[in-house]
Amino acid sequence: MNVRTRFAPSPTGLLHVGGARTALFCWLFARRHGGTFVLRIEDTDRERSTQVSIDAILDGLRWLGLDADEGPWFQSDRLAIYQEHVERLLRQGRAYRCYCSKDELDAMRDAQRARGEKPRYDGRCRHRTGPPPAGIDPVVRFRNPDEGTVVFDDLVRGTVAFDNRELDDLVIARGSGMPTYNFGVVVDDLDMDITHVIRGDDHVMNTPRQLNIMAALDATPPRFAHVPMILGADGQRLSKRHGAVGVMQFRDDGYLPEALLNQLVRLGWSHGDQEIFSREEMVALFDIADVHRAPAAFDYDKLGWLNQHYIRQSDSERLGALIVEQLERMDLDARGGAAPSLLADVQRDRGRTIAEMAEKSRFAFEEYDEFDERAAKKHLRPVALEPLEAVREKLRAMATWEPELLHAAVVECAETLSLNLGKVAQPLRVALTGTAASPAIELTLQMVGRDATLSRIDRAIAYVRERIQQFPLAGG
Ligand code: GLU
Repeated sequence: MNVRTRFAPSPTGLLHVGGARTALFCWLFARRHGGTFVLRIEDTDRERSTQVSIDAILDGLRWLGLDADEGPWFQSDRLAIYQEHVERLLRQGRAYRCYCSKDELDAMRDAQRARGEKPRYDGRCRHRTGPPPAGIDPVVRFRNPDEGTVVFDDLVRGTVAFDNRELDDLVIARGSGMPTYNFGVVVDDLDMDITHVIRGDDHVMNTPRQLNIMAALDATPPRFAHVPMILGADGQRLSKRHGAVGVMQFRDDGYLPEALLNQLVRLGWSHGDQEIFSREEMVALFDIADVHRAPAAFDYDKLGWLNQHYIRQSDSERLGALIVEQLERMDLDARGGAAPSLLADVQRDRGRTIAEMAEKSRFAFEEYDEFDERAAKKHLRPVALEPLEAVREKLRAMATWEPELLHAAVVECAETLSLNLGKVAQPLRVALTGTAASPAIELTLQMVGRDATLSRIDRAIAYVRERIQQFPLAGG
């Protein structure tokens, strides 16, 4: 069988973690079986669909590397096809026009509730005769079978059965002629020869309705796999509170796409106790039949851990470019300053996210506002004046700005003044970064660069002088 899967988002918001996981499973299943992954944008809800969402979905998929083999198809381009199928069902008596007004439907449901029944459309227009009421654009309803059971063998949930008495006559086309979700999806899954529908289990209730429509269209239905929902680490449904944001936010927060993909593939699927999966391994190992039924928890700690793993594996060129991109997102001008590969090598083991690494590199591109109070108090004391002046002179005179030479210069300075290295390096570090913590002093110097180094040392010297003037008697 030529496997064909599809990801069919409605463009009414960002591509969230749940959608991205569905897309990944569809993509993996197609790749695993040498099949085709189709992307379909379900944009028939004209009021809620936006171009911003379409772009966010496409950007998110591109960032994650979930490239479609076909599409994106847009349902809004396919209205004539749905119309044709609606007509066919009408002709065959499998669908009918319904002229009920909203008030009438409300009254019907109120009466049902009052009788203790579940509100549902009672089929009153099935046998309507006489001229159609004026001024109403009728909807079209599918004539659902009254009896019997709809059974399907879900690849994740096993056998699922619904009693037709639970299902009412569903609207398949709105008054405007637009198909509803349940109809567009059926026509497209058939027309696009989809063999496997993999989607969130919030759709499981729609499946019997869709199967009934497929049967009315004399079609062989695809297989279905409803994947479990995603929870936050606290066991609650994933929400904004858990950072259930669009996937591009993960990029902006400094995660690598392979870390997010790795986290997503583990949401409902496992392979022994393996945690780390390259894209190739996922493709080789993933099987929809191994997806669990139980909800899966999205764990930020795990994501951070995975991210660190992939950061360590990235080559310096890529990592450097990502740090620079992140710095620019922080509104820093990062071009022309410290080399990206230097940033990568210095920060590789110093953060769980690119954002942390960029934040730790900030001092290379922007002068601090003020000295950190504790650091200045401890390291920019009157005794720091002499080493700061000496190291400034030495650095000013350097012909090349290379780490080994920079390191040697600081060591030499300390030796000349008979101080231990820290008595020179710490005041220098505070001068360069405003704080007492930074990478090795020669790397810090390299990141800041010669001109900024000299001017920042001047600033520290001025600070120490002022302190001496204010407190002339303060010792050491
Ligand atoms: N368009 C639907 C949604 O965004 C998904 C349809 C489906 O997968 O069947 O929820």
